[in-house]
Amino acid sequence: ELAARVRTFDGTGRTSDGHLVPLLANIGKPAGAQAAADAGAEGVGLFRTEFCFLDRAQAPTIDEQVEQYRQVLAAFAGKKVVVRTLDAGADKPLPFLTNTDEPNPALGVRGLRTSTRNPEILDDQLTAIARAAEAESADVWVMAPMVSTVAETEEFVGRCHAHGLMTAGVMVEVPSAALQSGPILARAQFASIGTNDLTQYAMAADRLLGDLAVLSTSWQPAVLQLIAATCRGGAQQGRPVGVCGEAAADPALAVVLVGLGVATLSMSTPALPDVAAVLASVSADECRQLAELALTAESADGARAAVRAHLPVLD
Ligand code: PEP
Ligand code: MG
Repeated sequence: ELAARVRTFDGTGRTSDGHLVPLLANIGKPAGAQAAADAGAEGVGLFRTEFCFLDRAQAPTIDEQVEQYRQVLAAFAGKKVVVRTLDAGADKPLPFLTNTDEPNPALGVRGLRTSTRNPEILDDQLTAIARAAEAESADVWVMAPMVSTVAETEEFVGRCHAHGLMTAGVMVEVPSAALQSGPILARAQFASIGTNDLTQYAMAADRLLGDLAVLSTSWQPAVLQLIAATCRGGAQQGRPVGVCGEAAADPALAVVLVGLGVATLSMSTPALPDVAAVLASVSADECRQLAELALTAESADGARAAVRAHLPVLD
């Protein structure tokens, strides 16, 4: 019903009292970038680079990568684009990188773990991102998926800086990273919470199993506690924390995320107008109160019901 009433997004995410919350887009293939820009996305909060190469038997060359990345950056001239390094493995196997013999791929060599075992592929990718950034005017941020420790953060940020990519961050999608966000954000320039995986690992529930949907929701108070912990780490270090998982696309949950201290929300393009509309219906203080309600609930359903009861715009 909300969708029927509110169809536009003017390109600036904000609460009713003017607290700015940039609303960004999640992009897979470069073709989606222009559509996201046309829909008013204020930038790209997650460019899933592995989507460019899912069907490749061989690693892409640097030139091939530059070509793809430039298309995304070109659609967001002068705007922020967060490029994620290859998140290979588990639900996104890359034929040229992923060992498919692992008994538990979601707990195996995936994300940054793949990159550190194939440093030449990471180096090529960072070279390509740096070249694309030089050729276009977008504000390029780089982040690694599936970071678990402070040491991994330090190593990744160092590699990015060595390539001249000075805004280097990490995804927080493993509970250990959420709990270590203070020291992690002493090294990284920003963090972006991947709520899809953070929920999977917090709840020990495979994100691909529909049968576990009751567990696999970021409304779970335990997941919200991990998000709150990440935001505290960010506040401690003066570093921004965003969300780029599906949670950001649920308008009521988006309000809670802002109340927990999340600075930016990144989502699939179609979700932008509804999230913008609900955010514009509440003040920053109300976001904080709703976050407190959700955090102190004892179940996902309880958290969702308590928050939605205070958001008449969703009725
Ligand atoms: C996430 O895990 O929430 C995320 C944004 O990354 P992906 O869905 O690509 O794993
Ligand atoms: Mg993820």
